[in-house]
Amino acid sequence: MEIKAEKMNRKNNSGVNSMKELTEELEVKFGNRAEADVSAAAYTTYRTGGNFEFLVKPLNIEEMTFILSYAKAKDVPVTILGRGSNILVSDSGLPGITIFTGLMNKIYFPELPDTSAGKSVSVRAEAGALWDSFVTGCLRRGLGGYEKTSGIPGSVGGAVRMNAGAYGCETADFLESFTVITPEGKLISYQRAEVEFSYRYSGFPRNYTVVSAEFRLKQADPEKLLAIRSEILASRRQKQPLDYPSAGSVFRRPAGDYASRLVDICGLKGLSRGGAAVSEKHAGFIINKGGATATDIYRLIREIQKTVMEKTGVRLEPEQVLLGNFENC
Ligand SMILES: Cc1cc2nc3c(=O)[nH]c(=O)nc-3n(C[C@H](O)[C@H](O)[C@H](O)COP(=O)(O)OP(=O)(O)OC[C@H]3O[C@@H](n4cnc5c(N)ncnc54)[C@H](O)[C@@H]3O)c2cc1C
Repeated sequence: MEIKAEKMNRKNNSGVNSMKELTEELEVKFGNRAEADVSAAAYTTYRTGGNFEFLVKPLNIEEMTFILSYAKAKDVPVTILGRGSNILVSDSGLPGITIFTGLMNKIYFPELPDTSAGKSVSVRAEAGALWDSFVTGCLRRGLGGYEKTSGIPGSVGGAVRMNAGAYGCETADFLESFTVITPEGKLISYQRAEVEFSYRYSGFPRNYTVVSAEFRLKQADPEKLLAIRSEILASRRQKQPLDYPSAGSVFRRPAGDYASRLVDICGLKGLSRGGAAVSEKHAGFIINKGGATATDIYRLIREIQKTVMEKTGVRLEPEQVLLGNFENC
């Protein structure tokens, strides 16, 4: 369940013998878009966690390729950060270079042919675009498909990686193709059919970074699409604890059941550790009530898993990605 960033090799083969030296080189190229010791609380929807050792914000594919190739050459671990809405960063922070995709956020809407409903159209979005801005932009133009995913607070790249979805619709459903960068800096484009997608799973290598994606959407009545969006957003507001920081559903859906139902019947609603608590409104969410540390959240996750296992025999698997070191929690 943990993604452990390898301890950085601070004396590596490249002649660069400290992180400071290494990051100074990036600061020269990226100016104030490169920074050391940045709090994860500012970049994650849990609003907590330790520091990213070094955070850099590329504006385009060329800059992204440069950073990845640079990190590879210097043997520095890299983590890709979208909108931080599905991650928990440990209190000890995340070593290496974290690449924030949020400035690569263009969405290319095509000139729409003046046709009746039903014709399909391609829309391209960069990985760091907000998923919900992409969805809204499509619906307003009468491009239907993703209306039921309204309100998912991640990025386009995060949605492709996680195959995010809601109310029976997943990112993969209208995905046409997407482009990734390998750790060596090579660009590869995949057609949707070439990659396996399933529930919250994408089958391309974990160390590939999505840089853009194309979606094939059908023309439909914008008013109807926007009405569906409104219903979905109202349903989310009604069911989810949106007044508190969280990272959405903590656990994957177990076969034939719902994690929230199991957490609820085990009597765990409201259970808290430090500033973290199981939401009373939606038992599948852990909320930051104020001042929660990543350790509080991690301990709560473990405790829920243990209790649900003991009482129901079901092993809940986290959907959220744990970054950094949680060994001593
Ligand atoms: C209130 C709330 C409601 C939510 N509701 C839903 C929901 O209904 N359905 C749902 O599926 N999710 C939901 N989520 C979870 C989350 O929004 C999604 O998983 C989203 O797709 C994550 O995108 P992100 O950009 O925030 O990714 P991050 O959290 O930044 O990263 C998640 C993972 O994706 C990787 N990643 C990010 N960008 C890229 C990229 N460009 N290339 C390769 N890897 C990348 C990261 O390295 C990390 O492993 C919810 C979260 C919140 C806070």
